Amino acid sequence: MELKAPRGTYDILPAEAQKWQYIEQIMRQTAASFGFQEIRTPIFEHTELFQRGVGETTDIVTKEMYSFQDKSRRSLTLRPEGTASCVRSLIEHRLYGGVMPVKWYYQGPMFRYDRPQAGRYRQFHQFGVEVFGSSDPLLDAEVIILMLEILSRLGLTEYELHLNSVGCPACRQVYRKKLIAHLAPQVDKLCKDCQKRYEQNPLRVLDCKEAGCQEATVGFPVIMDSLCLECQEHYGAVKKALSSAGVSYLHDDRLVRGLDYYTKTAFEVHIPGIGAQSAIGGGGRYDGLVKECGGPEIPGIGFALGIERILLILEQKNRLPAPAAACDVFVVAMDPAYAGSAFELLLELRRAGLRADQDYNRRSPKAQMKHADRMGASLVLFIGEEEMEKQTVTVRKMKDSRQLSVSRAEILENIISLLAID
Ligand SMILES: [Zn+2]
Ligand SMILES: [Zn+2]
Repeated sequence: MELKAPRGTYDILPAEAQKWQYIEQIMRQTAASFGFQEIRTPIFEHTELFQRGVGETTDIVTKEMYSFQDKSRRSLTLRPEGTASCVRSLIEHRLYGGVMPVKWYYQGPMFRYDRPQAGRYRQFHQFGVEVFGSSDPLLDAEVIILMLEILSRLGLTEYELHLNSVGCPACRQVYRKKLIAHLAPQVDKLCKDCQKRYEQNPLRVLDCKEAGCQEATVGFPVIMDSLCLECQEHYGAVKKALSSAGVSYLHDDRLVRGLDYYTKTAFEVHIPGIGAQSAIGGGGRYDGLVKECGGPEIPGIGFALGIERILLILEQKNRLPAPAAACDVFVVAMDPAYAGSAFELLLELRRAGLRADQDYNRRSPKAQMKHADRMGASLVLFIGEEEMEKQTVTVRKMKDSRQLSVSRAEILENIISLLAID
């Protein structure tokens, strides 16, 4: 057996996990300040949920799902995205019967069998939000502004917001016909995937990066010209709400998103200057999805951000905070004879809420000091013969090597105030 994480997966080691915690904390706090609460759903679901909820014709369902049969021959799938599970949960618990809208955020690993490349993995992580139970265009603006606020709080302000409307089932039908008519004489120019897509899901051809598909879509009819009055008004209201909040956006006729269930507002955030994979997140309205999955007719809207890609950009742009020390206080026993007393002191410090540690290999005081330094401790406490006799502890400030003797009985108060000065 090869002792290596499976292709497309990786370990997040402690030095990296610190960065994840930082990013996740900002995401959670920002979502909470917008009135969102966390939901945690299973990592796997019935395969059928994604077939219905993501769409039979999407790349995700046709090529990228990790599906398997369990021992009772149920077909299960590792979740490839977060929305379908939220919809299932909303319906299963009949949460639409309570206060609406329901505002959720989620975060965790997703799984897609895709070709691994820079910033793209088979187990990847998303932070997303979903709102159910309101079709107010102000809510579209709120969800978009939340996504941008998260990026701002992470120090990423150079984003571009792309915006479009993909219409409703009524006006999209009209548009599909126009688009198919435009593509029909050029089908042989399209890539293999788009030749299949073009009848089932022709909107997808618009965001294909293949040269032939780009060529075939030159001068394509834009969906704006096909929107029904209601969809036009909705899109207008979203744009107005964004503008009055001071949010600038780029209208993008090619922005159609890959999923079948989107209606009306669709949006994506790009960070310019980071290459072809510049989209770091996106979302949209999905007013038909809850019904499609077997629930009542309840509108919804959401977005997802790719955490790997955000992390990569924050690293490139040097916007991550300096690594935090692994402990604040390190206890050094000058001789193994005092290890027991050192251990008691250590536990006392921890109970007081301090991050404290010690050496467990009975090494020399010098080696223990080295260990303390590597851990980033700002104070080291020594217990030796003299300290035992006088019932004191010697405290060294690592920054300037100053030492002071503190009575054992008053050590906690002293340590806490010394750490506060630092
Ligand atoms: Zn419409
Ligand atoms: Zn194509």
